[in-house]
Amino acid sequence: MIPVVMPTYARIDVVFERGEGAYLWDTTGRRFLDFTSGIAVNALGHAHPYLVQKLTEQAHKLWHTSNLFRVAGQESLAKRLTELTFADTVFFTNSGVEAWECAVKVVRKYQHDTGHPEKTRFIVAGGAFHGRSTTAIAAAKSEKMVGGFGPLLDAFDQVAFDNLNELRAAITPQTAAIMVEPILGEGGIRPASVEYLRALRETADEFGLLLVFDEIQSGVGRTGRLFAHEWAGITPDVMPIAKGIGGGFPVGACLATEKAAVGMVPGTHGSTFGGNPLAMAVGNAVLDVVTAPGFLEQVQATGAKLEAALKGLVERHPGVLAEARGKGLMLGLKCVTPNAELVTRLRDNGLLVVAAADNVIRVLPPLTIGDAEIAEAVSIIDKTCREVLA
Ligand SMILES: *Cc1c(COP(=O)(O)O)cnc(C)c1O
Repeated sequence: MIPVVMPTYARIDVVFERGEGAYLWDTTGRRFLDFTSGIAVNALGHAHPYLVQKLTEQAHKLWHTSNLFRVAGQESLAKRLTELTFADTVFFTNSGVEAWECAVKVVRKYQHDTGHPEKTRFIVAGGAFHGRSTTAIAAAKSEKMVGGFGPLLDAFDQVAFDNLNELRAAITPQTAAIMVEPILGEGGIRPASVEYLRALRETADEFGLLLVFDEIQSGVGRTGRLFAHEWAGITPDVMPIAKGIGGGFPVGACLATEKAAVGMVPGTHGSTFGGNPLAMAVGNAVLDVVTAPGFLEQVQATGAKLEAALKGLVERHPGVLAEARGKGLMLGLKCVTPNAELVTRLRDNGLLVVAAADNVIRVLPPLTIGDAEIAEAVSIIDKTCREVLA
C-alpha cells in the first residue's frame, strides 16, 4: 500500500519534536547537533527568539491578503534587498524553484521585448541543481531527476562547471542567458573560481546575454558575504534566492535589474501565496539579523575556523576524507569511503549533515554557531572516522 505521504523521499526514520539554536531533539528525547540546517535553510538556527517574536507578532495581526493588494512587508523587504544588492526590483515566491522559474521568465521576456525573440536558450552548468519543476529538471538533466518525466522543455545547453572555453563555445545566436550557481550546492560544494565568475560577466556582456546566478543555497550570508558572487566583485542581472532568507519559513525571491525586468509588466507573472505578510515578517527579521554590524564578519571568522578544523580532520583521516572545501559556512567534505554511510554513522553519533553529489557530505551549520558547536562537531567527525576504519 502506498504510504499516505507520497513516497518520493527515502526518509530517515527520525521525527524531530523541538529545536533550539544548532540543536534538535527527536521524539525519543535524543539530542542532535544540526549541521544540515534544513539544507541551508535555518540560517539562524532553530527557534531563534527574534524570528519567533516577529512571526508571532505578525500572526496576531494578518496572515494573507493576496497580491491583488499592496503588501507592506514586500515593499520594505524589496527596498532593503535592492539597497543591499545589484537589483532594482524583486518578485516574492514560496520556494527556490519558483524564484528560479521567475528568473527563466524574466530572461525570456527581456530578450523578446528588446528585439531578440530568437534568444530563448540557456547555458547551464553540469552538476547544477535548480529545483524539481519540469523546467528545472530539464536544466539539470540528471537521469535520476528526469527519468520518466519527459518530454521536457528543450531550452538548456549544459557545459562543464567552471570551464570558460567550453561555455563560450556553446553560445549560439539563440542563447539568451548564462545561468549558474556560484558554488554548486547539490553538485558537491564546488566553488567556481573568482576568475570564472568575472569572465561570465564579461562574456554575457559581449554576447548580449543576461547573467543569472542561482544563489538559492549560497545566498543570505551563507558564505560570509550577503551573496556569494560578491566575493568575485561582479554582479548578475537576475538572481533567484530562497532557503536562508526565510530562516525556516517558506520564502523565495527573484531579484533583477530594471534593465532585465523590462518586460515584467502587470499580468506577466503572479503567485497566490508569494510574499504574504507572514513570510515577509520573517524575511525582514532574517535580514535584520544578517545585516546587523559584525554578523557577516562573524560568519567569515566562524567559517574559517570550521574549515581549518575540517582540513585537520582530512589530514588525520586520509582513509576516510579526501578534501575539505567551500566558502564561509557552506562547506563540504569529499569522502573516500561512501558518503551516505558516513552521513548515517555521523547521525548515529549525534551529528546531522547532508550528502551531495561527488561523494561529498555537506556541512551547513546555522550561521550563528560558536566554538562549542565546532568543537563538538569535530569531535564527532573524528570519532566517526576512526569507527569507519576500525
Ligand atoms: C534548493 C535549491 C533550489 C530549489 O529550491 P526549492 O525550494 O527546493 O524549490 C534551486 N537551486 C539551488 C541552487 C538550490 O540549492
